[in-house]
Amino acid sequence: MTEQVIQHIEKVGVVGCGTMGSGIAEIVARKDIPVVFVEVDDAAVEQGVARIAAALDRQVARETIDADEKARILGLITGGTDWAVLADCDLVLEAVPEELELKQEVFGKLDEIVRPQAILATNTSSLPVMDLAVKASRPNRVLGFHFFNPAPVMALIELVRTVVTDESVMAATSEFAERIGKTPVVVDDRRGFIANQLLFPYLNQAVSMVEDGYATKEDVDAAMRFGAGLPMGPIALTDLIGMDTFLGIMNAIHAQHDDVRFAPRPILGQLLAAEYVGRKTAQGFYSYAEPGSSKVVTDGAARPPADPKLVADWTTVGVIGTGTMASGIVEVCAKAGFEVVVRGRSPEKAEAVLTKVSRSLKRMVDKGRMKQEAMDDTLARITPTAALEDLAPSDVVIEAVAEDLDIKRDLFEALAPILKPEAVISTTTSSLPVIECAMVTASPERVVGLHFFNPAAIMKLVEIVTSVRTDPVVVEQARAFVERVGKVGVLCGDRSGFIVNALLFPYLNDAVKMLESHYATAEEIDTAMKLGCGYPMGPFQLMDVVGLDITLAIIERLKEEFRQPSFEPAPLLRHLVEVGFLGRKAGRGFYVYG
Ligand code: NAD
Repeated sequence: MTEQVIQHIEKVGVVGCGTMGSGIAEIVARKDIPVVFVEVDDAAVEQGVARIAAALDRQVARETIDADEKARILGLITGGTDWAVLADCDLVLEAVPEELELKQEVFGKLDEIVRPQAILATNTSSLPVMDLAVKASRPNRVLGFHFFNPAPVMALIELVRTVVTDESVMAATSEFAERIGKTPVVVDDRRGFIANQLLFPYLNQAVSMVEDGYATKEDVDAAMRFGAGLPMGPIALTDLIGMDTFLGIMNAIHAQHDDVRFAPRPILGQLLAAEYVGRKTAQGFYSYAEPGSSKVVTDGAARPPADPKLVADWTTVGVIGTGTMASGIVEVCAKAGFEVVVRGRSPEKAEAVLTKVSRSLKRMVDKGRMKQEAMDDTLARITPTAALEDLAPSDVVIEAVAEDLDIKRDLFEALAPILKPEAVISTTTSSLPVIECAMVTASPERVVGLHFFNPAAIMKLVEIVTSVRTDPVVVEQARAFVERVGKVGVLCGDRSGFIVNALLFPYLNDAVKMLESHYATAEEIDTAMKLGCGYPMGPFQLMDVVGLDITLAIIERLKEEFRQPSFEPAPLLRHLVEVGFLGRKAGRGFYVYG
């Protein structure tokens, strides 16, 4: 092969015009680049064109394009069953179903038809690109060009280079990716590339929480949306991906890791066998209005809303602690109309909470989100004190002192005899066992975890943690209380990390391990997770905000409790903590701050 590889891609071929192929054809044509696609038969060609037209119609209806633009885009796309049309393409992208033999066959055929200087690409999510490249006589002109679903929307392209892909091929396709409005990230040929390698173990673990009955699917989804700011909950996303695709990708990832955490959970295979494939069959973990619809049909298993009557006569909340979390909770409860007694170790410390809340409310008044009168009323409901006895009238007490079991236990022991017998006692611990706090009181059944998220005034989620001794009535009261203060409550058991941290931190640890294996840089991994999965922040940005020391402590705690070998903290994380690169607060973590 002597011909130079194509430098500038001006005509594109697509093989397979299904979910991905149709999206790819649309975005390429949108940029004035002609596209030819091939399908298995005439009916599939028609369906392909109809799929593209329907997507464009939706954009016309939304007025993001007009009818002329639609006609122009469609005019640049030609579909057929004769592969000869691919002969003069500069780049051919393959998007047939995820089956190795099928894709290998496609590559063998393409190699014969497409001119030698052209580039061949696969959109595979999980197969080794090298296994496809070897089927062509030009493996150096084969690469992975991995789009994310929906292709027209998601900005990431993982450009997968095998050990033999030419640099000129990477350069030409990288330029092309940018020309069609995408952000390319170059990676080597490993299973799952960046985004799926980090996303799927997290999804799989979320599935295990539901499978084990640790939390409901609705609660797991709400927890990750409202506690971690993710655009979609993991179980709903699993349904969108589909059990078939999920199993394919998860199996591929497991082939690289000798750890059960990466093995697809048994329930996924059961759902697939039952033809509960996901959204596309209208039934996965959730039921949908019709195949392909995102509209969830509530099933009998969904928990009814809490009964507000259970806390209708509650007037007073006691908050113990004067830190960020305590101040946030005081603000939330006072705004919701409760009398709040906040107890600090000294009168000055307790007073300082009032000042903090006052500053926070003032900002709201300045922004026009609160009336001055409402601010004054809210502040008047807050009583700072240094005397534990002043918490006596509380209907619920929320403890938010230092994350130290001995301190919390001493406090619970002193507190319990002061309170009314029917009062609910809660801890906002994020990592300690609620039962250990409960057992120093005379009524462990009245103790529950109320894990608020920082900043409490803004974050919607509260994890309601039930210990093995918590009375079901107390759980219902806690749910009603959380709703009354305007938060979203989810129920979970009393184990390390509850829902959010148990799902988030192993993913962060996996990201550090990926970085330390030199597979990609922190910037590339952050970009991949933001643009490929729609995350508000990349994992390294997030760890820098949370603090690397806190991240390490949570991962260590998870490892201690679950004994998962892959929960072992990444050595790089330890080293950064040891040298004091703790994140934003230290001016340096994974990134350096000016
Ligand atoms: P799909 O089933 O929606 O579409 C595949 C299309 O290929 C069908 O229209 C089918 O008729 C056609 N086809 C099958 N055999 C063919 C052949 N021999 N010649 C020409 N056309 C043929 O699948 P999809 O979801 O679009 O996935 C396609 C590829 O993209 C897979 O490799 C998948 O892993 C990858 N991918 C999918 C997603 C996703 O979320 N769906 C995301 C990224 C990558």
